[in-house]
Amino acid sequence: MDKLTLDDVDVRGQRVLIRVDFNVPLGTSEDGRPCVGDDTRIRAALPTLRHVLDHGGKAILVSHLGRPGGQPDPDLSLACVADHLGTLIEERVRFSSNTVGETVEEVINGMSDGSVILLENTRFDSGEKANDETFSKALADLADMYVNDAFGAAHRAHASTAGVAEFMDVAVLGRLMEAEIEALSRVRDDPEHPLVAILGGSKVSDKLGTIRALSQTADDLLIGGAMSYTFLQVLGHDVGASRVEADRLETAEELYKQAEETISLPTDHVVAEAPEADAKSSIVEGDIPEDLMGLDIGPATIGAYRDRILDAATVVWNGPMGVFEVDQFAEGTTAIAEAVADTTDDGAFSVVGGGDSVSALTQSGCADRIRHVSTGGGALLTFLEGAPLPGIEALTDA
Ligand code: ADP
Ligand code: MG
Repeated sequence: MDKLTLDDVDVRGQRVLIRVDFNVPLGTSEDGRPCVGDDTRIRAALPTLRHVLDHGGKAILVSHLGRPGGQPDPDLSLACVADHLGTLIEERVRFSSNTVGETVEEVINGMSDGSVILLENTRFDSGEKANDETFSKALADLADMYVNDAFGAAHRAHASTAGVAEFMDVAVLGRLMEAEIEALSRVRDDPEHPLVAILGGSKVSDKLGTIRALSQTADDLLIGGAMSYTFLQVLGHDVGASRVEADRLETAEELYKQAEETISLPTDHVVAEAPEADAKSSIVEGDIPEDLMGLDIGPATIGAYRDRILDAATVVWNGPMGVFEVDQFAEGTTAIAEAVADTTDDGAFSVVGGGDSVSALTQSGCADRIRHVSTGGGALLTFLEGAPLPGIEALTDA
């Protein structure tokens, strides 16, 4: 690791500003109050928090939540996350309704060692997304050192993910960041072969850089989801009413030509008039009739992809194979989740990431058989593409 980590610093008696990714889905509790819908991201931050508390640091947690647009929005307050965190660690978690400023500085200075406070949503301040110096400096004024543990936000150069580090003497990687970097580097930089990459999801345009990078290192690049139809159209297939990104045809063609031997595309499809539960679906091989959309990979494709996956020593998967939110189009995604889990049981190293991919994986019941389930979506794609992540770059060199 070329950045300092928690192992390189002594947090005792220090005010430690920890950027976490508490951008969690919210729900409503039985008594009608906002509550945490899914706490996976909160749990992912616990190793860092525990380290700081157990070593006598004062933990100052900071995160964004949703898209309040640079002004306070009571529906996107982190107050309920503080309560939830308190029940997880069985300790009092203070909450500050101000993110920065004198009031919160006073509260922090009065905190005893080994205690924790969560600050209000950074995106209530327009300085966050603008990576504004004044807001970055105000965050830095709260603490003696900075820890970035928000892998999911590390591809963004915002005040709390990058800007703040410039005003701190010491800025280090948190435990989750370390685990993400270690697992993803193993796929990107030093994979055991055969490396099988599986890419799907909604838009080819989101993932062109990642496809390009992985097509150079992977032995097999299996493509599914809506992005397949842009490629299939380029190859002269009829794709009916399937989602195609017309402005990416040239890039897709160029990419395909460079990696023809590596890239596999679906040969059969589950099709219907619409991605809806009551739409009549059927399976077609090859071309898709007019008016019908490809909404999942078909059984022959599942079989072929499964065989490749079972041969892999390393597998990385991002992007569902179909519209998995609708049962009748979820089979391809579930089958790929099972294949990735099965090959992991046989000893392969596996990484799965992306918001929708991870919820599909969880839905399939296979998540705990995967070696590394990434908390990143955009950050994962950026990392695999080989592009720098501002949230990592900004930290102190080892
Ligand atoms: P992730 O969040 O894992 O990176 P994406 O956001 O790229 O994944 O893609 C997930 C979305 O892609 C899902 O909402 C799914 O319904 C959609 N999708 C997958 N296949 C198709 C398809 N054939 N047609 C339309 N949408 C699709
Ligand atoms: Mg998504």
